[in-house]
Order: sequence, then C-alpha cells, then structure tokens
Amino acid sequence: MALPSSATLAPLAAITHVAPTVVRILGLNPGPFTLNGTNCYLVSSRVLIDTGSGERDFPALIAPFILPRQSVPEPLTVICTHNHPDHVGGNHQIAEMCRQSGRPVRFMKLPGPDDAQEGIQWQPLKDGDVVDGVRVIATPGHTSDHICLWYETDKVLFSGDCILGQGTAVFSDLRTYMASLSKLLEQFPTLSTILPGHGPTIENGRERISAYIAHRQQREEEVLARLPATVDALAEALYPEIKGSVKDAAKRGIVMHIKKLEEDGKVELGSDGLHHRKETSS
Ligand SMILES: [Zn+2]
Repeated sequence: MALPSSATLAPLAAITHVAPTVVRILGLNPGPFTLNGTNCYLVSSRVLIDTGSGERDFPALIAPFILPRQSVPEPLTVICTHNHPDHVGGNHQIAEMCRQSGRPVRFMKLPGPDDAQEGIQWQPLKDGDVVDGVRVIATPGHTSDHICLWYETDKVLFSGDCILGQGTAVFSDLRTYMASLSKLLEQFPTLSTILPGHGPTIENGRERISAYIAHRQQREEEVLARLPATVDALAEALYPEIKGSVKDAAKRGIVMHIKKLEEDGKVELGSDGLHHRKETSS
C-alpha cells in the first residue's frame, strides 16, 4: 500500500527478470494505493514472495512459473511480507494451482493479529530465519507483521511495503516504522538493489532509505510548526494536491505524526482539543 504522489507512474511489464534468479510478476491490481499493482517475486523458482490480490487473470500469468516441470515436483514456499489483501489475496489461487499439479506448497509469514485466511495454514516466521536462502528481517511499522527479505545469492532486498519503488509508504505505527528504516541501514551497509512491493526496482537502496527517513523528519517538523491545527487543516496545508481516499490516508499519516510527537514529549493535548507544542526549557 502506497501513498502516491502526483508524479506519473512508470509502466512496468507484467513479467520481468529483475535479478539473476528473480522474476517479478505483477499482481494485475493497479490502483491509487498499489501503484502498478503488487509486485510478486519468484526467487530461483522455489520461493514466491507475495501473491497479489487474487485478480482473475493472475493465475494464467503466473502458471508457467509455478506449475512443476519435473516429474517429482520441487516444493514451493510462499512468503508473504505482511497480511494486507494486496499481498496475500492470491494465496488461494497458488494453493489451487499447486493442488491440481501435485506441487507441494507451504505458506509462511511473521505472525500477526488477523492471520486467519480460509484454507491457508500459515507456518510462522521470525526475525533472522533463513528459508530456502531467503533471510527474514522483521520490519514492523507499515503493519505489525511486516517483514523484508534478504536474498544473499543475488544480493537483493525485498522491501514489501516498507520502501516503495515510487512515492512514500504508509504506516500504522510511525515510531516502529522509523526504527525499521534505521535497522535496514544498520544491517545493510552496502545495500544497493531493493525490490519493492510496488513500483520499479530501486538501485540506490541506502540513499532511498535515508531519503525516506529525511522525508518523515521533515514532515514531522512541518506538522510541529503548524500546531495547533486540526488534522483536516494540516492535510490541506501539507497535501494540497491529493483528494478522496488518498487524502484520508494522508490524514491518518498526520495523526501518526502527532502521536509520535506526543510520545516524544514534544506536543500535548490542549483544553481546546488540539495538540500544542510544549514549551521547552532549552
Ligand atoms: Zn501493498
């Protein structure tokens, strides 16, 4: 899920080899929050990262990569970066394809609060697990169950919705989201290629992460400077160009900024129902 800017989207091909052993397959679900749709990544024909939203034409697109070529099919591991409908929605289609073709399949994710998905038996992942050469990095913030995945063979980071190919990400908890961005910078001192959950490949990975951090810090300062103000007024001032449901997402982001400022002791709720900057002694 993305918070789009007014910039136009670069078109992406439905199927693209994005690394020596990684194929990107689009979920065919473009929209205001999904950019070109969800990127599903098949890693060395064995691991599928995210399954899109269950679009009608998705099975036909992905079948040549999923249906087994050997008489004794190699197992398939599906890893979902987080439990949002545009990342787990194709699980049933993949499960059905594997059932019909006799390919064993398992579904894995970091446990979250609402994991029940009919017919899908999740196997739990945790930070640091390595599955079929792919390492799990817990990166909560977009959601509490969000993970990034590092594939050492091709030296690529799958960033889910933590870092996007275009625009900025949305988050459910800004403080943990910022901590996750810092964690990625710490763990990957030479990171270049990021394969995001939406949008094109990022080649200057560390710079992009640093830019995300700087962008959030700037937003925080902009929010702080305008307080006291209503969320609606802040959204109008900070995101004048966006409308409708996207504006609502922007407002939720502003609420998160205010919550973090409150946690950081920089603002407090006044008797007028608005947040005010705290007087600091320094
Ligand atoms: Zn998404």
